[in-house]
Amino acid sequence: MLNQNQKPLVSPLDKYPKPPFVKQPQEVPGLASKMNPIPDHGEKSYKGSGRLLGRKALITGGDSGIGRAAAIAYAREGADVVINYLPQEQSDADEVLALIEEAGRKGFGIPGDITTEDFCKKLVAEAADKLGGIDILVNNAGHQQAVDSLLDISSANFDTTMKTNVYAPFWITKAALPLLPEGSVIIATSSVQAYDPSENLFDYAQTKAANVAFVKSLAKQLGPKGIRVNGVAPGPVWTPLQTSGGQPQDAIVNFGEVTPLGRPGQPAELASIYVQLADSDASFATGQIYGAAGGNGHP
Ligand code: NAD
Ligand code: MG
Repeated sequence: MLNQNQKPLVSPLDKYPKPPFVKQPQEVPGLASKMNPIPDHGEKSYKGSGRLLGRKALITGGDSGIGRAAAIAYAREGADVVINYLPQEQSDADEVLALIEEAGRKGFGIPGDITTEDFCKKLVAEAADKLGGIDILVNNAGHQQAVDSLLDISSANFDTTMKTNVYAPFWITKAALPLLPEGSVIIATSSVQAYDPSENLFDYAQTKAANVAFVKSLAKQLGPKGIRVNGVAPGPVWTPLQTSGGQPQDAIVNFGEVTPLGRPGQPAELASIYVQLADSDASFATGQIYGAAGGNGHP
């Protein structure tokens, strides 16, 4: 019998949906609201305990997936949050902004395409203006399209993957750095693809390896300034990135099956890692990559 001081023990095996999933193609970038099953971003489950009270967070790709889970958790931990996303994702973003307000925090949406330096500069300036500063920067937006042969990757596609996943974090961080006070954190979303790249994610995997080097180098550069830099390397997570071309539709049917847990992760299962890395309690963690991959992969 459970009393009020106990939480039921939850098995990771049957906590969330398992394959097979139905095929469900969407145009890039895809909407979480159109996925089947709808991903769990912690809307009903994440409980805060004041870990980020008064903090000011900018999260790219905060409308859906892993970024949405981080945004909900940050707000419930007491942070005000700006999310960036593409204009086509406004309906997903509106759901997140409503949840941030429900948590009693300020939430702002700044839509726009981060593949140009001009917009990245504008995003950071506007975010700092709305929040009254920034002390948590989460470079999480990402572009992933599976292509079987290198011969079929056009320069334009290669460029979009590089601009979104490598240049944008550089531009955004460069613009934010002069504004970040001592004690701030920068968090990157890398991937197991950095360590064990799939044959059909040739360009994407390279960008995720670049995200690891970003963390390791910048942590050394910014340690003496009192700014921590860490990353998260997820395995397969149920998000629109995957269903809108990140995987071929055949692979969506079995998505996550190869993990020892036999299923994909849900964004909600990663939220506490983003909270931990942002919290000043983790003050000796910098230059680290935290894994959450259901038992396979690195680090
Ligand atoms: P997602 O589709 O929910 O989030 C990605 C977001 O990136 C989109 O919501 C979109 O707002 C943003 N984005 C893409 N191109 C953009 C552009 N040009 N301008 C502005 N925003 C843009 O999917 P997700 O899986 O939560 O992705 C978040 C991060 O997680 C990505 O960096 C991805 O590489 C990484 N990741 C995902 C998985 C997975 O299995 N889902 C695994 C490892 C790493
Ligand atoms: Mg989205």
